[in-house]
Amino acid sequence: MIATSNWVHCRRMDLREARLCLDCEEIYLGQQCPVCASESFAFVSRWVPARERRTGPRPATSPEAAAYRRLLVADAVRPKALRLVKRGAVGLAAISLARWLWRQSGASTRRAKP
Ligand SMILES: [Zn+2]
Repeated sequence: MIATSNWVHCRRMDLREARLCLDCEEIYLGQQCPVCASESFAFVSRWVPARERRTGPRPATSPEAAAYRRLLVADAVRPKALRLVKRGAVGLAAISLARWLWRQSGASTRRAKP
């Protein structure tokens, strides 16, 4: 809270939207100056550079979010060879299953013929 001679400002002010009144030098948010009702302004960010809003990841807000983040990071750093081995095993199992099904259908058509 900042107390001036006549005004007490309690609101949080976003630097990217803060305006400087060119008539009375009041810093405010909104369309016109709350002190002199002037609409002549300049953005404060013209002189005070504001950082981008999303420069980094948001902090985890819950233990569940932190657990998911740890799982994702652990999955990303897992060795590529292990992932390839897993995919190869799944592919081999799929091929074996298809081959078994092919043989089963061939055996049933042979039995059906007289
Ligand atoms: Zn003003």
